[in-house]
Amino acid sequence: MSQIISQPAIRRLVKQWLREGKRVVAPVQIRPDLVSYQPVRSADQFLLDGFIRPLNSIKEVVFPRHEQLFQYRVRGKQIDLLPAPLPDIERIVLAARPCDAAALPILDHVFNWESRDAAYNQRRKLTTVVALACMEHDAHCFCTSLGGGPDDTRGSDALLFDLGDDTLEVRCVTDKGQNLFAGQTESSTRTAPSVPGPERQADLQQVGQQLEQAFERSDWAAWTNRCLGCGACAFGCPACHCFDMVDEGGPTCGARVRNWDACQFGQFTLHASGHNPRSAQSQRQRQRIYHKFHVYPQKFGELLCTGCGNCTRNCPVSLGVLPVLEAMQAEGA
Ligand code: SF4
Ligand code: SF4
Repeated sequence: MSQIISQPAIRRLVKQWLREGKRVVAPVQIRPDLVSYQPVRSADQFLLDGFIRPLNSIKEVVFPRHEQLFQYRVRGKQIDLLPAPLPDIERIVLAARPCDAAALPILDHVFNWESRDAAYNQRRKLTTVVALACMEHDAHCFCTSLGGGPDDTRGSDALLFDLGDDTLEVRCVTDKGQNLFAGQTESSTRTAPSVPGPERQADLQQVGQQLEQAFERSDWAAWTNRCLGCGACAFGCPACHCFDMVDEGGPTCGARVRNWDACQFGQFTLHASGHNPRSAQSQRQRQRIYHKFHVYPQKFGELLCTGCGNCTRNCPVSLGVLPVLEAMQAEGA
């Protein structure tokens, strides 16, 4: 037997969660050609069916673009540090793409590596992720080449399947998911058919070994020379997590804040001396590929990529990681 819920029932649930003061983040149509994960204000504001591919990723729920870490106050020779209060609002991410959800356990490694990031971990604890299995994919999706798929449960607390006629099958994955849907579903004999994922590309799991030999190749410029260095690939990526920290304020008071950054920006590695160890855009592209497919897996045992394709989808010149990896493999690198 399966568990099902109707679309009107799930929208009633969202209404209830909003009334209870929870933050609900879901795909929202911003323009006819633009869908974005956003906090919703009402139960009829979000999309729950069809092929939905938001521009951004759900990492913003646990790793905000801009965040205050602490405030400082200087009184004579005394400096007081006032830590920012820990987040306390419960969050529910609804209709996340499975490839977005799959990035959360990958991000957990870096935010718990040499020190535990208290705010990140608190947000993870407060967040329940309900993914929506993909019924379609586009030319940029390659999750199946990296061990994922349209019904991947990694990072999800529950997974919904569109059964048509306004009905969704609910498969709970964790206790959080069970608690969220307890008493809200009906038993049914209907189950979702398995959904074919994107055709598997070359074995990208093995790309790390190829990269062992490819660092000094002169082809990096040819593979990546159309890159504009805009950073859209990193900001829409569910797994990219570069940030910068700056002090905002004056000599007597202010705050230390953390802002998203991207290794594709020319100033990302610019030293105060004026030297830049990655002065060419091809070096910055090479860095992005190596970090995702060589460095991160060596350090944490997982690729820093789920094959969501957002980097190519969002790129003004259709670059992103897959075209680079394909070019590299085509040349037998
Ligand atoms: S690969 Fe595309 S999205 Fe990424 S920095 Fe280059 S031009 Fe921008
Ligand atoms: S690198 Fe590209 S395909 Fe991989 S997770 Fe990031 S946006 Fe998705």
